[in-house]
Amino acid sequence: MTVCPSPAGTGIRFLRKDLGPEAFVPACASLVSNTARSTSLTLDGVTVMTIEHLMSAFTGLGIDNALVELDNIEVPILDGSANPYVEAFLKAGIVEQDASRQYLTLPRTVEVNDSETGSWIKAEPADAPSYDLTIDFNSKVIGVQSAHWDEGVDYATEIGPCRTFVFFHELEFLLSQNLIKGGDVDNALVVVEHPVSDKQVRRVASVFNRPVMNVNPDGYLDNVRRHFPNECARHKLLDLMGDLRLAGGFLNARITGFKPGHTMNTRMAAALAEAIGAKA
Ligand SMILES: [Zn+2]
Repeated sequence: MTVCPSPAGTGIRFLRKDLGPEAFVPACASLVSNTARSTSLTLDGVTVMTIEHLMSAFTGLGIDNALVELDNIEVPILDGSANPYVEAFLKAGIVEQDASRQYLTLPRTVEVNDSETGSWIKAEPADAPSYDLTIDFNSKVIGVQSAHWDEGVDYATEIGPCRTFVFFHELEFLLSQNLIKGGDVDNALVVVEHPVSDKQVRRVASVFNRPVMNVNPDGYLDNVRRHFPNECARHKLLDLMGDLRLAGGFLNARITGFKPGHTMNTRMAAALAEAIGAKA
């Protein structure tokens, strides 16, 4: 992946260079094609997968315009956080362009909810962007966690480094069904909700290419050390910021959410784009 400067007003666009010089996919909510475990966009048969952490880094660092060139279908997942992108952008520098940012303003409060999972997201008109999110998966390991971001919070240190998480039993299932490979989750927080045998841990350790793994007293596998006690909620916030960027830009809105995932997030992005009347 190569991220290139782009003129003011062009927003975020992807280019699948392996499919030709015109294989563009703009970052638009109307192009969402898959939200199972990550967010994909498709335009005229051209797909880009796993865009959400990169999109989040753009919003968190205040980047309005960029052209993302890919030589394959998927944005590199790297360590499962937005940190590698953040570090690369800060190292390269972010240039102020000769145009002022047009924040998207809401004409009214917008809400989406899922009665089956109880998850919801609400966006209220506001003078500046803010995001508040709470998760509750009925997990005694994770507990109830909340996270917050607004333009006064340093995204690069507070949100960007927060990694994705997966439940141990879900991980076993995904591995057994070949739905993920070890490398996809090497850096994920693994939540061990129910008792597991040494044999189960050894099996997972072999997929992670590690000789030994243990369950920490706090209920997380010891493949990584947590950056924050509420890292899970912070990662969900990272995802939410990335997915909502598909509404078409920076939102002057107070966003609140309860255990949303990519499906809810992208539904919300589409609802916001429609309410704002943004071209999508
Ligand atoms: Zn994520």
